[in-house]
Amino acid sequence: MKCVICHSEDIEVKEIKEEIKIGNDIVYVPIEIPVCNSCGERYYERKTLQKLEETEFRLKNKEITVKEVGKVLTV
Ligand SMILES: [Zn+2]
Repeated sequence: MKCVICHSEDIEVKEIKEEIKIGNDIVYVPIEIPVCNSCGERYYERKTLQKLEETEFRLKNKEITVKEVGKVLTV
């Protein structure tokens, strides 16, 4: 597999934290996807996107318990 952005072959499956915004809050959802080590491009598979959509839906319905790990601040 070659990166479509930078043509590097240095692509590795990694656990990353996808951000889902719920109102003013950001929820980090750990997922495993191929990531280009050279430019950082993430390759989402269809089933990953479906899982994220489902997770977002369940978060909005408060079906998933979340815990606070820090604060998001602004000025
Ligand atoms: Zn790349």
